[in-house]
Amino acid sequence: MASSRTVLIAGGGIGGLTAALAIAQRGFRVSVYDQAERLEEIGAGIQLSPNASRILIALGLAEKLKPLVVAPEELRVLNAQSARVLANAPLGQSIERRYGAPYWVIHRGDLQAALVEAVQAHPDITLALGKRIDDVAVHPNGVTAAAVGTTLTSEERGSALIGADGLWSRLRRRLGDARAPHFAGHTAWRALVPADDVVADLRAPAVNLWLGRNAHLVHYPVRGRQLINVVAIVRDDWSGASWNEPGLRSELLERFPTGMWPPVTRSLLAAPARWHKWALHDRPPLRRWGKGPVTLLGDAAHPMLPYLAQGAAMAIEDAAVLAARLAETPDDLAGAMRRYERARRRRTARAQRAARRNGTVYHMGGAEAFLRTLAMMAMGGQRLIRRYDWLYGWKPA
Ligand SMILES: Cc1cc2nc3c(=O)[nH]c(=O)nc-3n(C[C@H](O)[C@H](O)[C@H](O)COP(=O)(O)OP(=O)(O)OC[C@H]3O[C@@H](n4cnc5c(N)ncnc54)[C@H](O)[C@@H]3O)c2cc1C
Repeated sequence: MASSRTVLIAGGGIGGLTAALAIAQRGFRVSVYDQAERLEEIGAGIQLSPNASRILIALGLAEKLKPLVVAPEELRVLNAQSARVLANAPLGQSIERRYGAPYWVIHRGDLQAALVEAVQAHPDITLALGKRIDDVAVHPNGVTAAAVGTTLTSEERGSALIGADGLWSRLRRRLGDARAPHFAGHTAWRALVPADDVVADLRAPAVNLWLGRNAHLVHYPVRGRQLINVVAIVRDDWSGASWNEPGLRSELLERFPTGMWPPVTRSLLAAPARWHKWALHDRPPLRRWGKGPVTLLGDAAHPMLPYLAQGAAMAIEDAAVLAARLAETPDDLAGAMRRYERARRRRTARAQRAARRNGTVYHMGGAEAFLRTLAMMAMGGQRLIRRYDWLYGWKPA
């Protein structure tokens, strides 16, 4: 029966939508629910390292994505105080040859829109907006989820449920984790600047990472190099849950003072009229991701601090692995979900730890920063990338 093979997904973010495509590709029907009335272009840049881009390509999305992505040629790590390049790591062709898939950067809204288009074109996937999955009951025939809309609450039936409902996941709470995410003491400020408004060096196809005391800055071009994505991360006390809080440019510039930050970075920070900020939250790795035919995926299972640029990539990896396990035992989806969780737990916890460690290293000051500078210069760009072979070389089994 078709209905005995319908998988429900709570959350139409990058993880939920990729999971819908991957699971439908394996012959299931999929229903995706998102609490948002419209999936808007919220967000800024997202990095898709080879471990993620290879999955999107395997899902047949390369042609859709190519006009939207930028394949940066290098990663430049710079010291904010001296404006000196500490390491220059080749990306572009070099990384594609090494790992068999490209390193891309993209506007989050563009990636989400491309995934939505593919989902809507798929005959076996339905996408319902303005429906929040609040609760789930497991029974011998599968699951029933309570979907709360603006006026109606409906009961949605399926064989299994995936909680891809992000950092503040309700399903994670329903599965027994009562702890809330904890504030990591930093806010991330994002803006998009028209490429024509900045000097040529800032338009180059490169990922730039500037390290300063208690702050760092990342910028790279997106949307076919028409826009520059700028993300500034600073120590902060504001810990709201919104992804879209307006931020004052003057307040941000105070955190990047003259003398500590070179004019080119301050001019970039001064360029956008509008900034948005979000507070960075973290959670320790979770031991049990699911129960019966219910599991978690992406940020709901393992939120990532952005210092390793792997939040979207890990959600995309989850999607590919979960789809493969479900297809192995379509008559035992609960068993498939436990195998998926076992396959993902250690790797995602390692990425969470590595991201946390980078956060400490990026914001060092004084003698620690001096030692970091020496270590990075000695290591050089090639070795900097090779340290991440475990991350970028991964392929779904
Ligand atoms: C609006 C927004 C803007 C973002 N901007 C950036 C950014 O600029 N840079 C960056 O690095 N990362 C950003 N992120 C985070 C990044 O997208 C994720 O870390 C990563 O892609 C993992 O994706 P995910 O699908 O697991 O979670 P998310 O991308 O957070 O998606 C979760 C989805 O679930 C929906 N949802 C939540 N609860 C429910 C529920 N109970 N029922 C149904 N639907 C529900 C949400 O509306 C959302 O669409 C943003 C996330 C969001 C939601």
